[in-house]
Parts: sequence; structure tokens; C-alpha cells
Amino acid sequence: MPLLMNWLESLTYDIKAGGQCVRNASPLSTCTACKESCEKNAIIIEKSGVQIVKEQCNGCGLCIPSCPVQAIEGLSPNRKTIGDTLVLGEDLQPTKYELFHFYKKGIRTIAIPKGGSEMQILIDETNEILEKINTNLFQVVTGPVHDLKGQTRLSRRDFFSKLAKDGKNLALSTVTPAKWRFDQDKFKRAGMFEGWAFFQVHLDSEKCTLCETCFRLCPGKVFMTNGSLLVIDTGNCNGCSLCMDVCRDNALRVKPDLQRALELVATFLPLSCQKCSCDFLSWEDTDICPICQGSGQHSLS
Ligand code: SF4
Ligand code: SF4
Ligand code: SF4
Repeated sequence: MPLLMNWLESLTYDIKAGGQCVRNASPLSTCTACKESCEKNAIIIEKSGVQIVKEQCNGCGLCIPSCPVQAIEGLSPNRKTIGDTLVLGEDLQPTKYELFHFYKKGIRTIAIPKGGSEMQILIDETNEILEKINTNLFQVVTGPVHDLKGQTRLSRRDFFSKLAKDGKNLALSTVTPAKWRFDQDKFKRAGMFEGWAFFQVHLDSEKCTLCETCFRLCPGKVFMTNGSLLVIDTGNCNGCSLCMDVCRDNALRVKPDLQRALELVATFLPLSCQKCSCDFLSWEDTDICPICQGSGQHSLS
């Protein structure tokens, strides 16, 4: 009996923000992506982190693809597809990244309700990005779902094998523990289109004091040091903005702009301070670390 109870309990779950939320990495984070996506105002951002108000959350999953670091754990919106068509309803407007996920799964047409102007704008923005990649764009159709293509006639044999497959999928999607079906990771932005970066990362070496705070906190490991080389791998950036939030020198700019992924390389000097003996990094040869010079700051991590 306890086994049955445990299994029944495992079929449901509460949406929650997990440990990799960038707000847990630094109190300076300004990320509000999940809160902005929630149509039920069920997300509260407090000093202690992101809280989901159970009484208001309907489990729609809209917040899941919106999080740049996949910190919201749960199941993304249950979307309807017919053949290569994604059918969107009046509510639960997807994010671009959710549409990209469907694109990668072979969806090429999006059916939107009549008058769905916001969805049309979103699809236009998504298509602008697809155009840069030089690939087919989403086609948009409007109108009732039953008018759509995709109701292909199946042979008797195909019909029964589809029935068996659908039955298996239905069973898997209803009787397996919810946690086994959590799907936030499929919305990872880095590497979604191989060789492309969704964000441009610019580090201003005139302003940067090489305090390393962003190097350590960046969840995408965009900044890598090797000997005296700093490599900025733009393809790993997820657009979380944490680097800009924590940089007290205002030396970083991250902006959404699809470009070929780049490895930007800069050279620095690993030095030892003659005054306090601490090791530090500098763009040029100097005896005194930025902290002793009074112009630098202590690392936050
Ligand atoms: S699942 Fe839906 S209602 Fe619940 S917090 Fe996320 S967006 Fe809001
Ligand atoms: S979107 Fe993700 S990273 Fe940003 S505050 Fe919400 S849970 Fe944290
Ligand atoms: S470079 Fe900045 S915006 Fe990009 S993943 Fe790292 S911390 Fe986030």
C-alpha cells in the first residue's frame, strides 16, 4: 500500500525554481524572465530567491522555456502538433526558444488563431533569426484546426502500429513519475543551432579590471582562462545577463543578436602584488594589484 501511495504521489508535482537560478549565484542578478512569462502572477522574486505560489500556479509550464538557465523544473506547455504543424491557442504564448525547439523537431508550420497579432509578431521575429541561419522559415496559417493538413490516411497495418505507439506514449506520459518527464533541458539556448550564438558578448578591456567575478559566476562558462589567455566563447552564452549584473566596472555588454559563434581571445598577465602579495591578473605589466591601487574591487565569489 505505501508503495502504491508513493507511486500515485509521484505522478503529480509542483513547479519549482531549482538551485541553478542565477539569483542563487549572486544577489546582484536582475533576472526576471520567469516572472514576466507567468500569466497567473504566480512567481515572486524575493531576496531569498524565486518562489512559486502554489495556489496561483496552474502548472501551465510557460515559465520553463523562458528561463535562460533551465532552473525552473517541470513540464513545458502541452502543445498540440499535427504532422509538421504546431497548433497554438489563444493563450500560453510561447517564447522564441520554445518555437526553435519545435523547429528542431521538424515543425515548419504554425497555426495561430484568427487575430493572433502578438503571435504573428513573435513568429516574424523568430523567422528573422531563422533567415540569418539561412534555413526554411515557419509558415503561418490561421483558422480552425480541423481545416489543417496532417490527417493522412493510414494503411490498416500502419493504423494499428500507430495505435500501439500512441497507447505506449500515452501510458508513458501518464503513469511514469512526473520527474522522469521533466523537460526543461530541451530549451538550452547554447548549441541549439550548432555553430551559432544567440547573443553577442562584448568585454571592454578599457573598463575591465580583470577581477574575474564574471569568469567565475557565468553559468555558461563563456569566459575561460588558460595561462595568459582569456577566451570568450560566445556560443555558450544563454543571455542570462548575470555577467553584466555583477560587473562593477560596467565592462560587459550582452545583447541578443544571432551571429556565428566566436572564440574571442585576449592576452593578460598573471602577476603578484608587491604590496599585499596577492596574485592578480592585469592587461599590462604593473607591480601593484587594483585593490591596493584603490581602483579595483574584491571578487564576489
Ligand atoms: S507553471 Fe504557469 S502558472 Fe505556474 S508559475 Fe509557471 S507560468 Fe506561472
Ligand atoms: S528565469 Fe530562471 S534564472 Fe531567471 S530568475 Fe527565474 S528561475 Fe532564476
Ligand atoms: S556571458 Fe553573461 S549573459 Fe552570457 S551566460 Fe555568461 S553570465 Fe550569462
